[in-house]
Amino acid sequence: LKELEKSEISNLQNLYDQVTSENISSFDDMPLSDRTKKGLSEFGFVTPTEIQRESILIALRGLDVLGAAKTGSGKTLAFLLPVLEKLYCKQWTKFDGLGALIITPTRELAMQIYQTLVNVGKFHDFSAGLIIGGKELEFEKDRLDTVNIIICTPGRLLHHMDQNPLFSSVNLQMLILDEADRCLDMGFEREMNGIIENLPESRQTLLFSATQTKKVKDLARLSLSDPKYVSVHEHE
Ligand code: ADP
Ligand code: MG
Repeated sequence: LKELEKSEISNLQNLYDQVTSENISSFDDMPLSDRTKKGLSEFGFVTPTEIQRESILIALRGLDVLGAAKTGSGKTLAFLLPVLEKLYCKQWTKFDGLGALIITPTRELAMQIYQTLVNVGKFHDFSAGLIIGGKELEFEKDRLDTVNIIICTPGRLLHHMDQNPLFSSVNLQMLILDEADRCLDMGFEREMNGIIENLPESRQTLLFSATQTKKVKDLARLSLSDPKYVSVHEHE
């Protein structure tokens, strides 16, 4: 079985540089693992939105992405699918610890992302956790050393980085900054900078924002390396 997966992975990786967004009309046309495709189809996702079509292929190639698209355009899958694929291609296990970190401004958004990840990631074996404060605090403390994908709010995460010895990001592969403009508007600039300074530099970073303010540009400069800019405007 492992051998089958290894050949699937090398086939996928060969496609990353060949497939272009014009060739894509459904998720089936994308170089995605069978596990991910099964998850997508089980939850009724057939046709990628524009931001998904434009950014997923770039992210699969391992490049940093600065994505601009308004609310409701489908940014969640635009970053969750590359996260799932990257960890799958690296055959990530609980022994590898934290592989991807997703930062979003509010508890509600974090919970929505978590649910989408649980759904679409159903056929993968990764563990996921929320760090959003509140009731889950004890659970957050215990499980932190084996969880593969963490979804968090900025203040809560920085608290863990400072106080919880179980939190380790040494193996981190991907950082996702979701709704970066809102994070900054809510006054999380110091927290975001503190978090980014504490993460390994070798990671891949995807930053999504509805607007491109000066603060977003500063954050992009701090967190991204040679990013590809993907901007999706509504055709009305
Ligand atoms: P954003 O983060 O850009 O505001 P979301 O990722 O939350 O957008 O997606 C908005 C809505 O669109 C959600 O209800 C989601 O399930 C749905 N959606 C996202 N991608 C697709 C798709 N490819 N096909 C159908 N529905 C989708
Ligand atoms: Mg969103």
